[in-house]
Amino acid sequence: LAAHDAAAARADEQRGQLVEELKVLLHSPDAADDLDAGRVVVHYQPQLDADGQVAGVEALVRWDNPRLGLLTPDRFLDLVEDYALMPGLTTEVMWQAAEQAVRWTQQGHRLRMSVNLSASCLDHPGLLLLVDEVLTRTGLTPTDLVLEVTETSLMANPQASIARLHDLAARGVDISIDDYGSGYSSLAYLHDLPATELKLDRSLTAQVTTNPRTADIVAGTVALAHRLGLRVIAEGVEDVTMLTTLHALGCDETQGYLHARPMTADDCRAWLDATGPARTTATATAAAPA
Ligand code: C2E
Ligand code: MG
Ligand code: MG
Ligand code: MG
Repeated sequence: LAAHDAAAARADEQRGQLVEELKVLLHSPDAADDLDAGRVVVHYQPQLDADGQVAGVEALVRWDNPRLGLLTPDRFLDLVEDYALMPGLTTEVMWQAAEQAVRWTQQGHRLRMSVNLSASCLDHPGLLLLVDEVLTRTGLTPTDLVLEVTETSLMANPQASIARLHDLAARGVDISIDDYGSGYSSLAYLHDLPATELKLDRSLTAQVTTNPRTADIVAGTVALAHRLGLRVIAEGVEDVTMLTTLHALGCDETQGYLHARPMTADDCRAWLDATGPARTTATATAAAPA
């Protein structure tokens, strides 16, 4: 029992240290001013259409921590949320990602840039101002910015969230429903949403080649999404069988380790150069007519 208590105390201490560093990293008012907290790094993972052309990239945050090295979101995102630091993180990621998208466009790789929004960010009163400022100051074409929200985060506060999504859509930005199929997915609410993209959760992708019922669910979801004018992208695509199955079932785009892991901006640029130019118009893939 003593050993257990000691381990728990150590975990608390480590958590406390991470929190102090996060406050510095994300410009919290009560941050210490002499602590090296490293920096926020954004990695990018390509999204390919059925012809193998790059249609977009997803911005995925990492924390380059001076003590612990590069940390993925599972190591710190819950702390960011618990300590109300999400606005700082989102601001940082949004600016980096938008500036990167503009740079790549200037270098001949026009693509959509997807940024993840948590529920707390969607509800934050400053979100519209942030999006307006980022678009104006970077010059990024609004339709080249995709904001990903999970269906679970929408369910927390459906009416306010849907109203907020309409405000965002009015700016011309794309809205994606992330992790679709991971929770109590309801196609019923989709017609209320100004979404342009449905992102099938990895749990569906993972079973689509082995479970005929999953394949049926994906086919049905794709058909309805297309009728509603939504583009469908599958995440977590790890092998060629998954890729061909998903496209056979009507998925428009795919993202996953098969194409590329999330990469630094430099590595992604090299990958884009090697893969060939992204399409010159980054308009949404036309959904198949019903
Ligand atoms: P997500 O938005 O669903 O992002 C996809 C996750 O799946 C990423 O994990 C990505 O690295 C991983 N992934 C991509 N392809 C594959 C694959 O083929 N196989 C497997 N097994 N995994 C794959 P990551 O980067 O660790 O991000 C985890 C989650 O953290 C994201 O899930 C998203 O919900 C959240 N997140 C990431 N960046 C941000 C951010 O800037 N803001 C907010 N609010 N959340 C973020
Ligand atoms: Mg996402
Ligand atoms: Mg996802
Ligand atoms: Mg996911």
